[in-house]
Amino acid sequence: MKLGNSILSAYETSVFEVMSRLAREHDAVNLGQGFPDSNGPDDVRQVAVEATDKGPNQYPPSPGLPELRQAVAAHGKRFYDLDIDWQTETLITCGGTHALASCFLGLIEPGDEVVMFEPVFDTYLPMVRRAGGIPKLVRLSPPDWAVPRAALRAAFSAKTKLVLVNSPMNPTGKVFDRAELEDIAALCREFDAFAVCDEVYEHLVFDNLRHIPLMTLPGMRERTVRIGSAGKIFSLTGWKIGFLTGPKHMVQPIFRAHQAVIFSVVPSLQKAVAYGLGKDDAFFASIAVELQGKRDRFMAALAKVGFLAFKPHGTYFVTADFRPLGANDDALGFCTRLVTEAGVAAIPLSALYEGDIPQHLIRFAFCKRDEVLDEAARRLAKYFGKT
Ligand code: GLN
Repeated sequence: MKLGNSILSAYETSVFEVMSRLAREHDAVNLGQGFPDSNGPDDVRQVAVEATDKGPNQYPPSPGLPELRQAVAAHGKRFYDLDIDWQTETLITCGGTHALASCFLGLIEPGDEVVMFEPVFDTYLPMVRRAGGIPKLVRLSPPDWAVPRAALRAAFSAKTKLVLVNSPMNPTGKVFDRAELEDIAALCREFDAFAVCDEVYEHLVFDNLRHIPLMTLPGMRERTVRIGSAGKIFSLTGWKIGFLTGPKHMVQPIFRAHQAVIFSVVPSLQKAVAYGLGKDDAFFASIAVELQGKRDRFMAALAKVGFLAFKPHGTYFVTADFRPLGANDDALGFCTRLVTEAGVAAIPLSALYEGDIPQHLIRFAFCKRDEVLDEAARRLAKYFGKT
């Protein structure tokens, strides 16, 4: 028998899927896969209901509904003063993951090098490799996950096609600062590289920090694609509506990949997201404020139990070192024990590294109702004998 594609066959089922399944089987509080447990804003859902009812429900234009593409361009102007031509510089995708895959398929030639930061979100490596890219990983380390300048420079070469920047960063919760972004931008200019920016957590930034799109830095507008996600903005992760902006010469080949893989995206949900992106500033400010409260609540609980947790400045996630608890399992073993015995699911960061893999780090998602976080905290405290 012939075999399937060797690159993709080498990867396992996603750790997010595995942990969510274990959480269901063991009736655990699921702080593994990152999704909120609310149902999203009523008004946004209502627009989707009406649009589904009234239609049209046939294929929308392949790059997206004009009203959503216009809303995406307006969102870029409103928050970052970016001038985006909605007709040539936007694309609506099936979530951030599909936007990323379209970028890799649309931009990478076999043999091109792709610089990315480790720990690395689990879809990046398989899709970059499947597109023919050669990953060049730059490892970030706790507690602050600062970009190691010399290693970053060493990762770039004449063969670098693009750098992949995920800020705010999953799983670390790191928000890249201006100096780091300036270094990345300088290297992109020097080596004539593109940047693909996964900015799906752009509105989930804490501690009065500001998200800075790499695209806004000098010389980057014409070489950067920026990816956003309605799932993260509106707490509707299952909707899988993503959006992408970039210069026409990048968006065009990315669009070719998009039209070949998925062609177009659910029209009624696009309509609802177009409405949602027009919500007032108070809405956009409130999502981060609420989430910051949850971060503080859950970090306090983790400290009480005895974890060494690293304060995230954005995203849904907090990363923690479990060695202070005296545990000497590897990260997957620890998470398996946690979900089956303590009744709390988390993600082993070991699934997000290659090579010399750290085995003491795990990730919790705190984008949950307070009572759910408290129940998880109660179970952890009980399991580790801290009550
Ligand atoms: N972004 C989600 C997380 O990091 C996972 C999405 C997925 O399961 N592909 O938890």
